[in-house]
Amino acid sequence: CSKAEGRNRYHFFETRLQLEVQERKALERDLSRAIANDEFELFYQPIIDVIDHKIIGMEALVRWFHPSRGMVSPVDFIPVAERMGIIAEVGKWVLNNACIQTRKWREAGLGKLLISVNLSPLELARHEDLIESVGNALERTGLDPHQLQFEVTEGAMMANPREAAITLGMLRNQGIRIAIDDFGTGYSSLAYLKRFPVDKLKIDRSFIVDMDEEDGNSAIVRAVVFMARSFGMSVNVEGIETETQLDRISAEGVDELQGFYFSKPLPAPEMEALLNVQLQAELTPRITH
Ligand code: C2E
Ligand code: MG
Ligand code: MG
Ligand code: MG
Repeated sequence: CSKAEGRNRYHFFETRLQLEVQERKALERDLSRAIANDEFELFYQPIIDVIDHKIIGMEALVRWFHPSRGMVSPVDFIPVAERMGIIAEVGKWVLNNACIQTRKWREAGLGKLLISVNLSPLELARHEDLIESVGNALERTGLDPHQLQFEVTEGAMMANPREAAITLGMLRNQGIRIAIDDFGTGYSSLAYLKRFPVDKLKIDRSFIVDMDEEDGNSAIVRAVVFMARSFGMSVNVEGIETETQLDRISAEGVDELQGFYFSKPLPAPEMEALLNVQLQAELTPRITH
């Protein structure tokens, strides 16, 4: 290849790199203003009781509505917020708004629902800030701590197991529940798991996907349920999309379910409408002949 070509290619890469850097900086700049500009919104995915299929709570999942990019997934912006060191701010916003909404629904007579909030590994690591934000959120909103649950991944706990155990223990002493998110995808040691103050395992969606196939089997779900029971933990299964998956999983003695089969994550007004439908069904006397 000629010298000129080589130079052009060099310029091409240089320009693309510059564009990427500019792009990243613009995203970071916008993200740093997202809270002040009121661009975050919480969506809620119903958590369903395996026995009667009633909504017992919901997972709060944050969305960023960027003025020109549209909706940005948390998969794309949570890591950016972590890198920028502003994840604690995002986390506080999420926690406060989740608590406010859940308190409102309780006051509206829609039930004593569980609100499950995801914690970034970095939030868990900065335990003093976390304990303080949680205290503030509960005090400010008046939410019963028994209605609050935190989801942490195995990786977040294993980064610093002894510290994590202490932090989670402090939260749990206040009545807050602790769930391990995406369970089975990390490398948590069973020895630690037993010692962690954990109430619930959320089996990762990846173990549910192949249950749809003819020869798909429930061995992993069964093993996790067995282990959870011997540790005194309950089991949530996420990512249920089909009736076949639902039937197979329900037979394994899990406690609660989540997934598109029941509902996608919903904006607050749509979640509220679902809760109202459920309430009306409870209030309507069943006519039996
Ligand atoms: P996650 O906590 O494991 O949440 C479950 C994800 O699976 C959600 O994606 C949800 O919309 C999706 N999902 C639920 N049911 C199904 C299903 O049946 N099929 C399929 N294909 N997907 C399903 P989402 O909302 O995009 O969130 C992705 C991840 O972003 C979350 O995974 C969580 O790790 C993180 N995240 C979301 N909100 C927050 C937050 O407020 N704080 C922190 N730190 N992380 C968050
Ligand atoms: Mg989660
Ligand atoms: Mg999960
Ligand atoms: Mg996940």
